Amino acid sequence: MATPNICFRVLLFSEQGLDKKHGREVAAWFQRFPGPINVEVIEKPVKLERTLGTILWDETFSKLRDLRAEIAAESEAFVYLLTQSPNEQNWYAVEDEDNYRNGFGHVGDFSWVTSAPSHAISVHYIQKTIFNALLRDRNFPVEEIWHDSPRGCMFDFCAHKEDLAIKFRSADICSDCMSVFQEIPIPDELIHQTVSIMEAVRKLSVNTAPYLSSEHVFDRWPFPVALTRHKVVQSTNSLLRLLLLLDHYDSLVRYFYLAKETVAERRPELADHPSMGWWLDQLAASLKGERNFREVVRIAQEGKVVHLRNERRGHGWISPETESYRRDAEHLEGVITEIEAELAPFLEGYCLVIPREITLVSNQYRVEGENLLGSISCIRP
Ligand SMILES: [Zn+2]
Repeated sequence: MATPNICFRVLLFSEQGLDKKHGREVAAWFQRFPGPINVEVIEKPVKLERTLGTILWDETFSKLRDLRAEIAAESEAFVYLLTQSPNEQNWYAVEDEDNYRNGFGHVGDFSWVTSAPSHAISVHYIQKTIFNALLRDRNFPVEEIWHDSPRGCMFDFCAHKEDLAIKFRSADICSDCMSVFQEIPIPDELIHQTVSIMEAVRKLSVNTAPYLSSEHVFDRWPFPVALTRHKVVQSTNSLLRLLLLLDHYDSLVRYFYLAKETVAERRPELADHPSMGWWLDQLAASLKGERNFREVVRIAQEGKVVHLRNERRGHGWISPETESYRRDAEHLEGVITEIEAELAPFLEGYCLVIPREITLVSNQYRVEGENLLGSISCIRP
C-alpha cells in the first residue's frame, strides 16, 4: 500500500506525581522503532482529582479535552495521558467515546502480570488507541474486534489483568484481526512499526528471557558510545578497564554534547585539542536552564571523573601495579552507570545516520541512510 507520508502524532502528557522518565521511555520506543507513530512528550504535569483513590473517567476525559484545546492540537493528533492513579473501572487504558483521539492509560505496578517494563505496557496501549481510532473512523464497532477470551492477539481485551501476559508473550495479531485491518485498511507502515515493537516487548515478557542470547543495552545505542561501552565489557584487567571506562566516559560526554547541540539546531564551537574537562563545561553550559538531563552534569561533577583521570593517569606518579586501579575502576563504572541511566532516553531516542538518499515526496523530504547502531555496525563503502 503506498502511504509514504502517513503520520500519527501523539502528544503525551503525564499526571502530576508520575516519574517524568516514564513518558520519555515511552517516546524512546517509537524512536527506536521508527514508523508513522511519533510521540512528543509534554513535560508540564497534569493535576487530576481523585475520588475514593481513583480518577473518574468523565472528569479525566474532560481534562483531556481541555488539554487538547490548551495546546491547540490539530484534530487528527492524539492526546494521551499517562496516569499514576488507577481509574474507576480499573482498566489498563481507555479512550473518550466523544473524541476517541483522546485517551489515558494507567501506569501501575503490573510486575505481578508481566516482566515487561511498565513503559512497554503504556506503549502497547498507545498503539491500540491509534488502531481503535482508525477502526472507528470507518465506523467499525471496536467492541466487535475485542477478544473476551485471550487468544494471544493484540486485541485480547484482558478483562483479567493477568491476560496481558498471554498477549505480550505471543506478540501476535490473529487472522480475524488481520482480515479486519485489510478491510479498513490499516496502513502497512503502522502494522510494521507495531509488530516490531511487539516483538521486542515479547523478548522482555517470556519466562525464558534469561536463557535467550543476551542482547546488550548498548546494541540500541549509536555507534560511538556503543563501541566504547562494548570494549569495557570485554576487559578484565583493572588498569585496562579503568582506561576503557575513561574512554567511554569521554565518548558519552562528547557524543551527548555534540548530538544535543545538533538536535537544538546549534553549531557547537570546538576548541583546539579540547580536554575532558572542557567537554563537560561545554555540556553544562548547553544544558543551562533546561529541565532534562541536568543530572548528567551533576553526577559527572560529583563523581570527580576529570580529577580521577588527572590523578591516576594524567599528572604525577603513575602506579605500575595493575590491581591498584580496581577500586577507581569500580567507582568510575558506578558513575558511568548512573549517567547512562539518565541518558537512556536520549541514547535510544536518536539515531546517528549517514544519509544516502534524500527525495521529495508530496512536498515532504524522505531521507534514507545507514543507521549507525550498536557496536558492530560498519560503515559500508
Ligand atoms: Zn485478534
